[in-house]
Amino acid sequence: MKCVSCDQPLVCGKCGKAYTPSSESAYRAMHQAESSIACPACNAALVCRWCGHSYSGDAGEFGET
Ligand SMILES: [Zn+2]
Ligand SMILES: [Zn+2]
Repeated sequence: MKCVSCDQPLVCGKCGKAYTPSSESAYRAMHQAESSIACPACNAALVCRWCGHSYSGDAGEFGET
């Protein structure tokens, strides 16, 4: 699974596990801005480790809240 933004292999920014969609619908959800993806390993909102692209569905901001 590649990051939609930087085209690097998508790795969770929180725990460092590679993210692999479990199904075709999960894969499609990756490409929808309103979809919220959580890392299956650590359950944090998924953020690309390399470019910081957020898959949490919250446009604009990411980081600690
Ligand atoms: Zn990225
Ligand atoms: Zn994780």
